[in-house]
Amino acid sequence: MAAQPLRVLACGDVEGRLEALFGRVRAVQAKSGRFDMLLCVGNFFGSTSDAEWEEYRTGFKKAPIPTYVLGANDQDTVSYFPDVSGCELAENITYLGRRGIFSGTSGLQIAYLSGTESQDEPTPAYSFSSKDVTELKTSLLSTPKFKGVDILLTSPWPRDVGNFGNSPGEIDTKKCGSALVSNLAASLKPRYHFAALEKAYYERLPYRNHIVLQETPQHVSRFIALADVGNTSKKKYLYAFSIVPMSLMDPAELVKQPQDVTENPYRKLRKEAHKAKTLVCAEEEPACQFFFDLNKNQGMKRPSDGKERGNSQPKQAKKPPQPTGPCWFCLASPEVEKHLVVSIGTHCYLALAKGGLLPDHVLILPIGHYQSVVDLSSEVVEEVTKYKSALKEFFRSKGKRYVLFERNYRSQHLQLQVIPVPLDLCTSEDIKESFIVQAQEQQIELLEIPEHSDIKQVAQPGTPYFYVELDTGEKLFHRIRKSFPLQFGREVLASAALLGLPHRADWRQCTAARPEEAAAAQAFRRDFQPFDFALQA
Ligand SMILES: [Zn+2]
Repeated sequence: MAAQPLRVLACGDVEGRLEALFGRVRAVQAKSGRFDMLLCVGNFFGSTSDAEWEEYRTGFKKAPIPTYVLGANDQDTVSYFPDVSGCELAENITYLGRRGIFSGTSGLQIAYLSGTESQDEPTPAYSFSSKDVTELKTSLLSTPKFKGVDILLTSPWPRDVGNFGNSPGEIDTKKCGSALVSNLAASLKPRYHFAALEKAYYERLPYRNHIVLQETPQHVSRFIALADVGNTSKKKYLYAFSIVPMSLMDPAELVKQPQDVTENPYRKLRKEAHKAKTLVCAEEEPACQFFFDLNKNQGMKRPSDGKERGNSQPKQAKKPPQPTGPCWFCLASPEVEKHLVVSIGTHCYLALAKGGLLPDHVLILPIGHYQSVVDLSSEVVEEVTKYKSALKEFFRSKGKRYVLFERNYRSQHLQLQVIPVPLDLCTSEDIKESFIVQAQEQQIELLEIPEHSDIKQVAQPGTPYFYVELDTGEKLFHRIRKSFPLQFGREVLASAALLGLPHRADWRQCTAARPEEAAAAQAFRRDFQPFDFALQA
């Protein structure tokens, strides 16, 4: 039996303009029927004349709908709220209180936090502190099976809410708003979050509350900032919606993901919380198999691999696949540019990239003609892994970390692009964020997948994909549906956010004469020598 949805209105800063607000509410109700409640965020009272308020306070006029408001945001309006813990201000107008949960008989759960963020001690009457946020979080998160709240009301915007989302216009969400509100929203997972104070209307694309492939799907959150009542630029200040309390919803219906859902803007906060949780339950079985599982179908070991773990099985004597036409990357083919090759193993080799982004931009390539990592046999995978660890050690010795990516889209021969980035330039989180953000700008969704997860499990053989991997094993993945920009990985690394080499984003602008290429390869070979296991066999 489907529950009847509640019809709710939310409103931005009223600033004491009650006639304008309630006039509007009456018009809306005359046109589209009764609403169950009106929720007001931001400044309910203005610091100027309170003549309009007096008529409501004294009962001369009455609000046309049960109205719930947040408390003061400045010293001037504190006196309008006689009881900090919440009270009726006038008939049909209720001040919710400093912070807490409001649940009507309908089962709708509304969390609220009044005031603006403050670090001062003691906290001013019109502010909240980290202690308020922690207490509000604790009271909810300690309830068994807490999934989230239906609605969150705050006056300030959450800091960073624009991350991964549609543009909030002139508002810079990296600077405005409250970090504590972000923290609260990240934990409470409201289905709707309303805020005001910025005199702007912004409806962010819905964002998800779970880590894809790592956590079970959860409901999405919608953040809506509302403008001030009666603003002259006609920005939206009243928002109407219907909602069935989540406690009454079918769980499958609740977690449905809309088409335009985005990454969580508070991803970093969520990740920290997730990490803490993972540490606590470290004994839990990982949800996915390990990437390049050496115990599975392991090939014959080379004599030098004496200390490797696992049981060896007889090697399948399989000849590497051959290309049907000319290939630039099959080591045996005449087309291959041998002067760029810097190391040759049993199944794989390393070559400098032609027109590389940096002089030490290198490729890991299978010797045989494989199309993607998903197609590799286990012994090739094993050697790819060895090249990765050798390159990690090599680049770390030079104060760099590598970023690896594979674009498996209409590619002939697998190329793992490996590009080093100085460790002191940015964090691994910065690198991932740059990839996610720049992908999003092109309507591409890059998802973080669990470290050590197997690309083979995420991508079926034959399906195109793009993935990025850091030398720590952290990975971002995108399943290509239509097409994929040719130079994307390189462009992100070249962008101002990372290496700052935009003029080298296109490899065709970076080609060098053959003697220079040969010299660069020779230099790389010399430097890499101490790390090259292929030479130590
Ligand atoms: Zn080939």
